[in-house]
Amino acid sequence: MRKAISRDTCMLVGSAPNFPSGSIDPIAEIANLGLEYGIPVHVDACLGGFLVPFMEDAGFEMPLFDFRLPGVTSVSCDTHKYGNTPKGSSVILYREPQYLHHQYFCISEWPGGIYATPTLSGSRCGSSIALTWATLLHFGRNTYVERARKIVSMARKLAGEVAQIPGLKAMGRTDVSVVAFQSDEFNIYAVSDKLNKLGWNLNTLQNPASIHFCLTYNQASEEVVKEFVADLTKACDEVRSDPKKGGDSKSAAIYGLAAQIPDKSLVEEVAYTFLDACYAMPEKED
Ligand SMILES: *Cc1c(COP(=O)(O)O)cnc(C)c1O
Repeated sequence: MRKAISRDTCMLVGSAPNFPSGSIDPIAEIANLGLEYGIPVHVDACLGGFLVPFMEDAGFEMPLFDFRLPGVTSVSCDTHKYGNTPKGSSVILYREPQYLHHQYFCISEWPGGIYATPTLSGSRCGSSIALTWATLLHFGRNTYVERARKIVSMARKLAGEVAQIPGLKAMGRTDVSVVAFQSDEFNIYAVSDKLNKLGWNLNTLQNPASIHFCLTYNQASEEVVKEFVADLTKACDEVRSDPKKGGDSKSAAIYGLAAQIPDKSLVEEVAYTFLDACYAMPEKED
């Protein structure tokens, strides 16, 4: 990151944690870089924003990741993830009002009046904000701490068990709630397809090929972990004993093909065609 800094650098960003592997970046070191070079430091705590602030109280060792580090200038947290609020609300916190100020947009000469908005979206839904506030009050700090304790301890337990399954290895660290894994022996996407058939829907990741289980409160129990590990072990055994090592599975084919195309704009075109199909109207019948 230090090497990448130039006179054009307007921001340094770290994750707490990132989405793919669930690992927390060395935020304190990034914050020091920001101070040293006079560059704002943003912490993306979108996924973990309602887990990481409660982990210390839940009994976990937790490095500083927030405004207690002098270099951190903004933090984002998604209320709609572990905050349990409905989608459509999120939070961006700034150390200084000047950063909020830069977020504003105004068009002063519009015939419709002097239009000024603090956010990217213009009209916003008041009920979503009210529901978010009500949800935060309903759960309360103690419940968030209790849930963080269950989710993080079960995620780490799951990570420990996954590491024991032959052929699997961890992708990153389970610092919070995500357990990500890959395989050097067989095609991990084939494992994902088999898990789908057993009723588990994991996120598929790429660069490197891997999949992850992002534990929610509903899955933070001994029973779910036990059931999942049994199904995952079975799925891995099947793929390992397959002569093609899962290379011909559906997801493996999609990601394998995408990885072979050097011009990624073609991959985007295919993704857009999928979206077009989602919005397509049925042909009118005569
Ligand atoms: C969810 C998430 C975001 C924001 O995604 P939205 O779909 O816009 O809510 C940003 N960063 C991380 C790490 C996330 O998990």
